[in-house]
Amino acid sequence: MSSSIEELARANVRKLTPYQSARRLGGNGDVWLNANEYPLAVPFELSQNTLNRYPECQPKQVIERYAAYAGLQPDQVLVSRGADEGIELLIRAFCEPGKDAVLFCPPTYGMYSVSAETIGVEYRTVDAQEEWQLNLPAIAERLDGVKLVYVCSPNNPTGNLIKPEDIRQLLEMTRGKALVVADEAYIEFCPAATLTGWLQEYPHLVILRTLSKAFALAGLRCGFTLANAEVIALLMKVIAPYPLSTPVADIAAQALSEQGVAIMKQHVKEVLANREKLIADLRECDCVEKVFTSETNYVLARFTASSAVFKTLWDQGIILRDQNKQPGLSGCLRITVGTREECDRTIEALKTLPGASDSREQA
Ligand code: PMP
Repeated sequence: MSSSIEELARANVRKLTPYQSARRLGGNGDVWLNANEYPLAVPFELSQNTLNRYPECQPKQVIERYAAYAGLQPDQVLVSRGADEGIELLIRAFCEPGKDAVLFCPPTYGMYSVSAETIGVEYRTVDAQEEWQLNLPAIAERLDGVKLVYVCSPNNPTGNLIKPEDIRQLLEMTRGKALVVADEAYIEFCPAATLTGWLQEYPHLVILRTLSKAFALAGLRCGFTLANAEVIALLMKVIAPYPLSTPVADIAAQALSEQGVAIMKQHVKEVLANREKLIADLRECDCVEKVFTSETNYVLARFTASSAVFKTLWDQGIILRDQNKQPGLSGCLRITVGTREECDRTIEALKTLPGASDSREQA
Protein backbone atom coordinates (compact mmCIF):
# COMPACT_ATOMS: atom_id res chain seq x y z
CA MET A 1 0.00 0.00 0.00
CA SER A 2 2.60 2.50 1.08
CA SER A 3 4.87 1.65 -1.87
CA SER A 4 2.09 2.38 -4.39
CA ILE A 5 1.51 5.76 -2.78
CA GLU A 6 5.25 6.37 -3.07
CA GLU A 7 5.02 5.53 -6.78
CA LEU A 8 2.33 8.18 -7.23
CA ALA A 9 4.72 10.92 -6.13
CA ARG A 10 6.71 12.95 -8.66
CA ALA A 11 10.05 11.31 -9.51
CA ASN A 12 12.04 14.35 -8.33
CA VAL A 13 10.19 14.34 -5.01
CA ARG A 14 10.88 10.61 -4.53
CA LYS A 15 14.59 11.29 -5.06
CA LEU A 16 14.64 14.45 -2.93
CA THR A 17 16.69 14.69 0.25
CA PRO A 18 14.85 17.34 2.26
CA TYR A 19 16.74 20.26 3.74
CA GLN A 20 18.31 19.19 7.02
CA SER A 21 17.28 22.18 9.09
CA ALA A 22 18.73 22.60 12.55
CA ARG A 23 15.32 21.82 14.02
CA ARG A 24 14.92 18.60 12.01
CA LEU A 25 18.36 17.40 13.12
CA GLY A 26 17.12 17.58 16.71
CA GLY A 27 19.43 17.29 19.71
CA ASN A 28 18.85 17.66 23.39
CA GLY A 29 20.67 20.81 24.15
CA ASP A 30 20.49 23.85 26.32
CA VAL A 31 23.07 25.78 24.30
CA TRP A 32 21.73 26.06 20.75
CA LEU A 33 24.45 27.32 18.46
CA ASN A 34 23.41 25.56 15.26
CA ALA A 35 20.86 27.78 13.49
CA ASN A 36 22.39 31.29 13.46
CA GLU A 37 19.56 32.63 15.56
CA TYR A 38 19.77 35.55 17.97
CA PRO A 39 20.20 33.88 21.38
CA LEU A 40 17.52 35.74 23.37
CA ALA A 41 13.83 36.34 22.82
CA VAL A 42 12.77 39.90 22.05
CA PRO A 43 9.42 40.71 23.68
CA PHE A 44 6.51 41.68 21.43
CA GLU A 45 2.81 41.97 22.06
CA LEU A 46 0.09 41.51 19.50
CA SER A 47 -1.76 44.76 18.89
CA GLN A 48 -4.52 43.20 16.76
CA ASN A 49 -6.95 40.52 17.81
CA THR A 50 -9.18 40.35 14.77
CA LEU A 51 -8.51 37.06 13.08
CA ASN A 52 -11.87 36.49 11.36
CA ARG A 53 -10.72 38.39 8.25
CA TYR A 54 -8.02 37.36 5.80
CA PRO A 55 -4.84 39.45 6.05
CA GLU A 56 -3.55 41.76 3.33
CA CYS A 57 -1.34 39.91 0.83
CA GLN A 58 1.36 42.57 1.21
CA PRO A 59 0.67 44.42 4.48
CA LYS A 60 1.12 48.11 3.68
CA GLN A 61 2.82 49.15 6.91
CA VAL A 62 5.33 46.28 6.75
CA ILE A 63 6.19 47.09 3.14
CA GLU A 64 6.50 50.82 3.78
CA ARG A 65 8.61 50.37 6.88
CA TYR A 66 10.94 47.86 5.22
CA ALA A 67 11.30 50.13 2.17
CA ALA A 68 12.25 53.02 4.47
CA TYR A 69 14.69 50.81 6.40
CA ALA A 70 16.34 49.59 3.15
CA GLY A 71 16.29 53.03 1.46
CA LEU A 72 14.04 51.83 -1.38
CA GLN A 73 10.57 52.48 -2.79
CA PRO A 74 7.63 50.33 -1.60
CA ASP A 75 7.20 48.87 -5.11
CA GLN A 76 10.72 47.44 -4.83
CA VAL A 77 9.80 45.31 -1.79
CA LEU A 78 8.00 41.96 -1.49
CA VAL A 79 7.33 40.35 1.89
CA SER A 80 7.05 36.56 2.27
CA ARG A 81 7.22 33.61 4.65
CA GLY A 82 10.93 34.00 5.33
CA ALA A 83 13.66 34.51 2.77
CA ASP A 84 13.21 30.81 1.99
CA GLU A 85 9.92 31.56 0.30
CA GLY A 86 11.67 34.28 -1.75
CA ILE A 87 14.23 31.71 -2.97
CA GLU A 88 11.40 29.50 -4.18
CA LEU A 89 9.18 32.23 -5.67
CA LEU A 90 12.05 33.32 -7.89
CA ILE A 91 12.43 29.81 -9.30
CA ARG A 92 8.68 29.47 -9.80
CA ALA A 93 8.47 32.81 -11.60
CA PHE A 94 11.60 32.56 -13.76
CA CYS A 95 12.52 28.91 -14.37
CA GLU A 96 10.77 26.51 -16.71
CA PRO A 97 11.07 22.99 -15.25
CA GLY A 98 13.07 20.69 -17.51
CA LYS A 99 14.47 23.63 -19.50
CA ASP A 100 16.01 26.39 -17.38
CA ALA A 101 18.57 26.09 -14.60
CA VAL A 102 19.76 27.87 -11.47
CA LEU A 103 23.41 28.18 -10.52
CA PHE A 104 25.20 28.67 -7.19
CA CYS A 105 28.66 28.23 -5.70
CA PRO A 106 29.16 25.68 -2.88
CA PRO A 107 29.88 25.68 -0.04
CA THR A 108 26.76 27.76 0.48
CA TYR A 109 23.20 27.77 1.81
CA GLY A 110 21.36 24.48 1.23
CA MET A 111 17.92 25.73 0.19
CA TYR A 112 18.91 26.84 -3.33
CA SER A 113 19.31 23.20 -4.41
CA VAL A 114 16.36 21.88 -2.38
CA SER A 115 13.97 24.47 -3.86
CA ALA A 116 15.19 23.81 -7.41
CA GLU A 117 14.88 20.05 -6.97
CA THR A 118 11.41 20.32 -5.46
CA ILE A 119 10.19 22.32 -8.43
CA GLY A 120 11.99 20.07 -10.92
CA VAL A 121 14.45 22.69 -12.12
CA GLU A 122 18.07 21.76 -12.85
CA TYR A 123 20.70 23.23 -10.57
CA ARG A 124 24.31 23.73 -11.53
CA THR A 125 27.16 24.31 -9.17
CA VAL A 126 30.52 25.98 -9.62
CA ASP A 127 32.64 25.40 -6.53
CA ALA A 128 33.97 28.53 -4.88
CA GLN A 129 37.68 29.09 -5.31
CA GLU A 130 40.35 30.33 -2.87
CA GLU A 131 38.87 32.07 0.15
CA TRP A 132 35.40 31.15 -1.06
CA GLN A 133 35.23 33.73 -3.81
CA LEU A 134 33.42 33.33 -7.15
CA ASN A 135 35.15 31.39 -9.91
CA LEU A 136 34.00 33.80 -12.63
CA PRO A 137 35.55 32.08 -15.70
CA ALA A 138 33.95 28.75 -14.67
CA ILE A 139 30.59 30.48 -14.06
CA ALA A 140 30.78 32.14 -17.50
CA GLU A 141 31.24 28.72 -19.10
CA ARG A 142 28.22 27.24 -17.35
CA LEU A 143 25.69 30.06 -17.81
CA ASP A 144 23.90 28.57 -20.82
CA GLY A 145 20.21 28.16 -19.91
CA VAL A 146 20.73 29.60 -16.42
CA LYS A 147 18.00 32.02 -15.31
CA LEU A 148 19.01 32.61 -11.69
CA VAL A 149 22.43 32.84 -10.05
CA TYR A 150 22.30 32.76 -6.24
CA VAL A 151 25.19 34.52 -4.50
CA CYS A 152 25.12 34.39 -0.72
CA SER A 153 27.02 37.38 0.71
CA PRO A 154 28.00 37.19 3.47
CA ASN A 155 28.07 33.49 2.74
CA ASN A 156 26.54 30.82 4.94
CA PRO A 157 28.35 28.77 6.27
CA THR A 158 31.78 30.33 5.57
CA GLY A 159 31.01 33.82 6.93
CA ASN A 160 32.88 35.81 4.25
CA LEU A 161 31.66 38.52 1.90
CA ILE A 162 31.85 37.98 -1.85
CA LYS A 163 34.04 40.67 -3.46
CA PRO A 164 31.76 43.42 -4.81
CA GLU A 165 33.86 43.79 -7.98
CA ASP A 166 33.23 40.09 -8.72
CA ILE A 167 29.47 40.52 -8.23
CA ARG A 168 29.66 43.47 -10.63
CA GLN A 169 31.37 41.28 -13.24
CA LEU A 170 28.72 38.63 -12.70
CA LEU A 171 26.01 41.25 -13.21
CA GLU A 172 27.69 42.34 -16.45
CA MET A 173 27.94 38.80 -17.82
CA THR A 174 24.32 37.97 -16.96
CA ARG A 175 22.71 41.19 -18.26
CA GLY A 176 19.66 40.35 -20.37
CA LYS A 177 20.05 36.61 -19.69
CA ALA A 178 19.64 35.82 -16.01
CA LEU A 179 18.88 37.37 -12.63
CA VAL A 180 21.58 37.62 -9.95
CA VAL A 181 20.09 36.95 -6.51
CA ALA A 182 22.22 38.33 -3.68
CA ASP A 183 21.21 36.57 -0.46
CA GLU A 184 21.79 39.18 2.27
CA ALA A 185 20.23 37.23 5.16
CA TYR A 186 23.15 38.30 7.41
CA ILE A 187 23.73 41.81 6.05
CA GLU A 188 22.84 43.58 9.31
CA PHE A 189 26.14 42.29 10.72
CA CYS A 190 28.05 44.15 7.94
CA PRO A 191 25.53 46.71 6.66
CA ALA A 192 28.00 48.70 4.54
CA ALA A 193 28.25 45.72 2.17
CA THR A 194 24.63 45.79 0.99
CA LEU A 195 23.99 45.92 -2.75
CA THR A 196 20.68 47.80 -2.48
CA GLY A 197 22.42 50.87 -3.97
CA TRP A 198 23.03 48.90 -7.17
CA LEU A 199 19.37 48.13 -7.95
CA GLN A 200 19.00 51.27 -10.03
CA GLU A 201 21.92 50.32 -12.24
CA TYR A 202 21.03 46.63 -12.63
CA PRO A 203 17.42 45.69 -13.48
CA HIS A 204 18.32 42.01 -13.05
CA LEU A 205 19.65 42.28 -9.49
CA VAL A 206 17.52 40.77 -6.69
CA ILE A 207 18.30 40.92 -2.95
CA LEU A 208 16.97 38.59 -0.26
CA ARG A 209 16.58 39.72 3.35
CA THR A 210 15.08 38.29 6.54
CA LEU A 211 13.90 39.15 10.05
CA SER A 212 15.25 35.75 11.25
CA LYS A 213 18.81 36.78 12.11
CA ALA A 214 19.71 40.24 13.44
CA PHE A 215 16.05 41.08 14.10
CA ALA A 216 15.84 38.01 16.40
CA LEU A 217 12.60 36.76 14.82
CA ALA A 218 13.39 33.35 13.28
CA GLY A 219 10.14 31.99 14.75
CA LEU A 220 8.10 34.69 13.04
CA ARG A 221 8.92 33.50 9.50
CA CYS A 222 9.17 36.80 7.70
CA GLY A 223 11.54 37.73 4.87
CA PHE A 224 11.86 40.20 2.02
CA THR A 225 12.77 40.24 -1.65
CA LEU A 226 14.12 43.56 -2.91
CA ALA A 227 14.26 44.23 -6.64
CA ASN A 228 13.06 46.55 -9.35
CA ALA A 229 9.29 46.94 -9.63
CA GLU A 230 9.11 44.75 -12.75
CA VAL A 231 10.63 41.75 -10.93
CA ILE A 232 8.42 42.31 -7.88
CA ALA A 233 5.30 42.41 -10.10
CA LEU A 234 6.22 39.01 -11.58
CA LEU A 235 6.76 37.50 -8.12
CA MET A 236 3.37 38.88 -7.07
CA LYS A 237 1.80 36.67 -9.75
CA VAL A 238 3.04 33.45 -8.13
CA ILE A 239 2.94 34.27 -4.41
CA ALA A 240 0.21 32.69 -2.24
CA PRO A 241 -2.87 34.89 -1.71
CA TYR A 242 -2.14 35.31 2.03
CA PRO A 243 1.55 34.58 2.62
CA LEU A 244 1.69 36.23 6.08
CA SER A 245 -0.75 35.71 8.91
CA THR A 246 -2.18 38.78 10.67
CA PRO A 247 -0.03 38.24 13.84
CA VAL A 248 3.13 37.97 11.70
CA ALA A 249 2.39 41.24 9.92
CA ASP A 250 1.59 42.88 13.27
CA ILE A 251 4.91 41.90 14.86
CA ALA A 252 6.96 42.54 11.70
CA ALA A 253 5.62 46.13 11.61
CA GLN A 254 6.66 46.60 15.25
CA ALA A 255 10.13 45.17 14.59
CA LEU A 256 10.55 47.62 11.71
CA SER A 257 9.48 50.69 13.69
CA GLU A 258 12.20 53.21 14.53
CA GLN A 259 12.46 51.74 18.01
CA GLY A 260 12.54 48.16 16.67
CA VAL A 261 15.38 48.96 14.29
CA ALA A 262 17.31 50.71 17.09
CA ILE A 263 16.97 47.60 19.30
CA MET A 264 18.19 45.41 16.44
CA LYS A 265 21.26 47.62 15.97
CA GLN A 266 22.07 47.39 19.68
CA HIS A 267 21.80 43.58 19.49
CA VAL A 268 24.14 43.53 16.49
CA LYS A 269 26.76 45.46 18.51
CA GLU A 270 26.54 42.91 21.31
CA VAL A 271 26.78 39.96 18.91
CA LEU A 272 29.84 41.48 17.22
CA ALA A 273 31.59 42.00 20.58
CA ASN A 274 30.82 38.39 21.57
CA ARG A 275 32.03 37.18 18.18
CA GLU A 276 35.42 38.85 18.58
CA LYS A 277 35.90 37.24 21.99
CA LEU A 278 34.72 33.86 20.70
CA ILE A 279 37.19 34.02 17.79
CA ALA A 280 40.07 34.98 20.10
CA ASP A 281 39.15 32.19 22.54
CA LEU A 282 38.79 29.58 19.77
CA ARG A 283 42.30 30.42 18.57
CA GLU A 284 43.58 29.41 22.03
CA CYS A 285 42.00 25.93 21.89
CA ASP A 286 44.31 23.01 21.04
CA CYS A 287 41.62 21.18 19.08
CA VAL A 288 41.07 24.16 16.76
CA GLU A 289 43.22 24.21 13.62
CA LYS A 290 41.87 27.34 11.98
CA VAL A 291 39.25 29.97 12.67
CA PHE A 292 37.93 31.74 9.60
CA THR A 293 37.13 35.43 9.64
CA SER A 294 33.44 36.23 9.88
CA GLU A 295 31.22 39.12 8.83
CA THR A 296 28.19 37.43 10.40
CA ASN A 297 26.71 36.08 13.66
CA TYR A 298 28.48 32.73 13.30
CA VAL A 299 32.03 31.49 13.08
CA LEU A 300 33.38 28.64 10.98
CA ALA A 301 36.35 26.73 12.38
CA ARG A 302 38.38 23.70 11.33
CA PHE A 303 39.07 21.15 14.07
CA THR A 304 41.63 18.37 14.36
CA ALA A 305 38.94 15.74 15.00
CA SER A 306 35.68 17.51 14.21
CA SER A 307 33.33 14.52 14.58
CA ALA A 308 34.62 13.80 18.08
CA VAL A 309 34.42 17.51 18.97
CA PHE A 310 30.87 17.72 17.65
CA LYS A 311 29.77 14.62 19.58
CA THR A 312 31.49 15.60 22.84
CA LEU A 313 29.78 18.98 22.84
CA TRP A 314 26.44 17.47 21.71
CA ASP A 315 26.58 15.10 24.70
CA GLN A 316 27.02 18.13 26.96
CA GLY A 317 23.98 19.86 25.46
CA ILE A 318 25.99 22.25 23.28
CA ILE A 319 24.66 21.89 19.75
CA LEU A 320 26.87 23.08 16.88
CA ARG A 321 26.41 22.65 13.13
CA ASP A 322 28.54 20.05 11.37
CA GLN A 323 29.74 21.27 7.95
CA ASN A 324 31.99 18.27 7.15
CA LYS A 325 29.99 17.18 4.11
CA GLN A 326 30.11 20.51 2.28
CA PRO A 327 32.73 20.77 -0.48
CA GLY A 328 36.02 22.10 0.91
CA LEU A 329 34.82 22.06 4.51
CA SER A 330 36.05 18.74 5.87
CA GLY A 331 36.76 19.07 9.57
CA CYS A 332 34.69 22.25 9.84
CA LEU A 333 32.01 23.10 12.37
CA ARG A 334 29.90 26.25 12.38
CA ILE A 335 29.25 27.94 15.70
CA THR A 336 26.53 30.58 16.10
CA VAL A 337 27.55 33.48 18.33
CA GLY A 338 25.41 32.98 21.42
CA THR A 339 25.28 34.95 24.65
CA ARG A 340 28.61 35.57 26.40
CA GLU A 341 27.79 32.71 28.81
CA GLU A 342 26.98 30.31 25.96
CA CYS A 343 30.22 31.17 24.17
CA ASP A 344 32.18 30.70 27.40
CA ARG A 345 30.58 27.29 28.02
CA THR A 346 31.49 26.23 24.50
CA ILE A 347 35.10 27.32 24.96
CA GLU A 348 35.33 25.56 28.33
CA ALA A 349 34.15 22.32 26.70
CA LEU A 350 36.58 22.72 23.79
CA LYS A 351 39.51 23.40 26.13
CA THR A 352 39.22 19.85 27.51
CA LEU A 353 39.76 18.34 24.03
CA PRO A 354 43.21 17.39 22.71
CA GLY A 355 44.96 18.93 19.70
CA ALA A 356 46.54 17.02 16.79
CA SER A 357 49.92 16.50 18.46
CA ASP A 358 48.28 15.41 21.75
CA SER A 359 46.12 12.80 20.00
CA ARG A 360 49.18 11.44 18.16
CA GLU A 361 50.97 11.12 21.49
CA GLN A 362 48.03 9.22 22.89
CA ALA A 363 47.74 6.90 19.87
N1 PMP B 1 19.47 32.60 3.33
C1 PMP B 1 20.45 32.22 4.16
C2 PMP B 1 21.85 32.41 3.74
C3 PMP B 1 20.13 31.67 5.41
O1 PMP B 1 21.11 31.27 6.23
C4 PMP B 1 18.78 31.53 5.77
C5 PMP B 1 18.38 30.96 7.11
N2 PMP B 1 18.97 29.82 7.49
C6 PMP B 1 17.82 31.92 4.87
C7 PMP B 1 18.18 32.46 3.66
C8 PMP B 1 16.36 31.74 5.14
O2 PMP B 1 15.92 32.66 6.04
P1 PMP B 1 14.41 32.69 6.57
O3 PMP B 1 14.45 32.26 7.99
O4 PMP B 1 14.00 34.11 6.39
O5 PMP B 1 13.60 31.77 5.68
